[in-house]
Amino acid sequence: MARYIGPVCRLCRREGTKLFLKGSRCFTEKCAVDRRSYPPGQHGQVRSRVSEYRTQLREKQKLKRIYGLLERQFRQYFFKADRKKGVTGENLLKLLESRLDNVIYRLGFASSRKQSRMLVRQNHFSVNGESVNIPSYLLNVGAVVSVREGSRNLLPIQSALEISGGRTPAWLTLDQGELKGEVKGAPTKEELALPVNEQLVVELYSR
Ligand code: SF4
Repeated sequence: MARYIGPVCRLCRREGTKLFLKGSRCFTEKCAVDRRSYPPGQHGQVRSRVSEYRTQLREKQKLKRIYGLLERQFRQYFFKADRKKGVTGENLLKLLESRLDNVIYRLGFASSRKQSRMLVRQNHFSVNGESVNIPSYLLNVGAVVSVREGSRNLLPIQSALEISGGRTPAWLTLDQGELKGEVKGAPTKEELALPVNEQLVVELYSR
């Protein structure tokens, strides 16, 4: 599937907020948002009109970019979330968070979702004992994600773990010795603390 391969810091600058797409660099003074806090391009510093549609669109783009998805894939998640019971915006966040690449990133086995996707495709992880190399694989509560035996000493995984220091969100548990983690429940909106108003995304698709 086609994927954005341009400079990722540009995406953060476009959204005017840190989307944490580059791992440890995002926490240093090299972060492009900290250095140039205006949108990229020739007209980046020109003030543009803010419409309701534009605000909704920017929120959608932010969420899409955080999880590294293309429009069609993102839209499919939205419709799936819309069909579920409950609040659509929260369902959408929960669905996105239950992706295998995201859970691996949240467990600290990768320093960014992009790196996580790469590691999954290279077959370094198993889910409930079975090897899985599909980054979009959705995990249910109780699913156990492990680093495969031959990949335990892999440098990207070890250094990501060192940076995260074994800290995980409350809805996941990590066994750092065994290099495995478990999904304990669904995350709440507060736990995710994403710089996105998901309700505006719902409004955009409901137009
Ligand atoms: Fe975004 Fe990270 Fe680049 Fe900063 S360093 S602009 S947070 S990707």
